[in-house]
Amino acid sequence: MNPRTALKPLWALLLLSMPWHSSPRLCAEVPDYLVIITLDGVRTTELFGGLDRDTYKAASKSAEWADEATYQSYWAETPQARREKLMPFFWGEWMSQHGSVIGNRALGSQMDLRNRHRFSYPGYSEILTGQARDQQIKSNDKIQSPAPTLLEFLKKEWQLPKAQVGVFSSWDTIRYIVEQKAGSLFINSGFEPYQSDDAVIQSFSLLQKETTTPWNSVRHDAYTFAFCQHYIDQQSPRVLYLALGETDDWAHDVRYDRVLESLHRSDRYLRALWEQYQSNPKTRGNACFVMTTDHGRGDNPFNWMHHNDKLDGAKQTWMAVVSPSLAARGEWHAHPQAHSDQVAATSAKLVGVDYQLHDPMAGKPMEWLFR
Ligand SMILES: [Zn+2]
Repeated sequence: MNPRTALKPLWALLLLSMPWHSSPRLCAEVPDYLVIITLDGVRTTELFGGLDRDTYKAASKSAEWADEATYQSYWAETPQARREKLMPFFWGEWMSQHGSVIGNRALGSQMDLRNRHRFSYPGYSEILTGQARDQQIKSNDKIQSPAPTLLEFLKKEWQLPKAQVGVFSSWDTIRYIVEQKAGSLFINSGFEPYQSDDAVIQSFSLLQKETTTPWNSVRHDAYTFAFCQHYIDQQSPRVLYLALGETDDWAHDVRYDRVLESLHRSDRYLRALWEQYQSNPKTRGNACFVMTTDHGRGDNPFNWMHHNDKLDGAKQTWMAVVSPSLAARGEWHAHPQAHSDQVAATSAKLVGVDYQLHDPMAGKPMEWLFR
């Protein structure tokens, strides 16, 4: 399952098993486990600045918008206070103690999509294959990936059984995006049932179809996350991809309140995921997390619900990284322009693998992240 564990010196294993070893070690050794997380269509506006008042006001149907519970929950005077209310774990713990995040354009940190379409399939494909494929992928149609993905590459490179590369997504089309060769990975996506011996999880599998969403192809993230957590408990996959989707769909429906609530829930999931990895001696201090988005959105109160090739804001992305081998740096201030086609090679490098061997044409790793 985990060939590298056997190579760890005895003292390292002892250290990991100590009860006081609760915070991750900063080590030169690369982690064994990779977790990729995507939050669909989350703008830099909300990630770095929390609730946007003009957007909230324009989207609300009520004249008393400022009295609404969601506004009251997430409004504060400064962007820093607003984002910490919205994503208390991400900002209050993850980015302040363990990781770093790029994409805050106000600080001169820029990350953009390479593809010109600026919607989901092209975005996820760029992230997972390391290339913008503008000519091959022009729609969100359910077609198999035209190229092998990072997930398939790691499975081959590490000679993993299918169960060791798990994919959990709220949007059903992710199933097609994550693999070129259908059936290579363990995937649970859309409203697909999830088999389990656990009675609660089994009931969730049935319930997901009864708690319908306004969208035919996207289930509630709560189910995706519950199945994902159960799978991690059972399998400890070396490679995990969690694709949460509600943030984008509520935005298309012009429900800014629900976008904020979804993002806040996603933050809770991040905390639970982090605690799950930190509570297992196998994965504690031995997992690297990469989080990003498939596209941005319009950047004003009248176009924020959309994303397309005409909207400049839709190309603006971000990426957060938490790894025991990297120092916690919080927000990046200045660095070379980053692109989403570098996420695959950067993720591979974080777990000690050279993605260029797989695809020399893919975006290069963000070398400056590692200095
Ligand atoms: Zn969308």
